Amino acid sequence: MCVWNEGRKGGGVFIVIEGLDGAGKSTQADMLVERLKKSSFDAVKLKEPTNGRWGTEIRRIAEEGREHLSPDEEAELFIKDREEDSRLNIIPALSAGKIVVMDRYINSNAAYQGALGLEPEMIFKKNAGFPQPDAVFFLELTPEEGLRRVNQRGAANAGFEKIDYLKKVHDIFNGDAGGFKKMIRIDALKPPEKIAEIVWQNVAPLLKK
Ligand code: ADP
Ligand code: MG
Repeated sequence: MCVWNEGRKGGGVFIVIEGLDGAGKSTQADMLVERLKKSSFDAVKLKEPTNGRWGTEIRRIAEEGREHLSPDEEAELFIKDREEDSRLNIIPALSAGKIVVMDRYINSNAAYQGALGLEPEMIFKKNAGFPQPDAVFFLELTPEEGLRRVNQRGAANAGFEKIDYLKKVHDIFNGDAGGFKKMIRIDALKPPEKIAEIVWQNVAPLLKK
């Protein structure tokens, strides 16, 4: 598949921010997009799961409980969501030369569905035809701290955020499957402005004016 090459032709840059819930992904995605726009870059913020039909289904399952879904079926929903997101959002933006800042992407699937028993490398393989990021940041914090922040925010959900499960997710993120080794790791306990500066130092060299 050559979807990514198509995206590349336009000269866009694809940045992904990963981490457990509460790690600060949305905070950093907002700060990065704002800084890019201030520097006159055409930046768009995207997130997965999306607000499209498959992403909405994933969110509904996360809230209502995932007991009736097998890990494979769950992984398949994320693939469908990503297929739609690539076609409607990611590839058009990259082709138009935009900077795409994505909140969660393939590595989240490999870690979260991996923690349900799927092989992370198999998940990476299934996602090989989608646009591949130029840089992936991993905001690192313990599952306990992530949950503490999320609970403070008052948005814990039953399906995706049990502590034992999150510990498995965390271990897989810290494992050595291909997609994880390439991540740029940042201590998520640093103040948001410090993290944003580290992100910027890594993003700036990728930008072409
Ligand atoms: P995520 O999108 O990864 O779930 P958020 O960006 O929503 O995380 O942040 C989760 C919570 O933690 C929010 O209340 C946010 O204000 C707070 N937060 C974000 N970044 C930091 C940080 N670096 N240090 C302390 N608190 C943070
Ligand atoms: Mg978020």
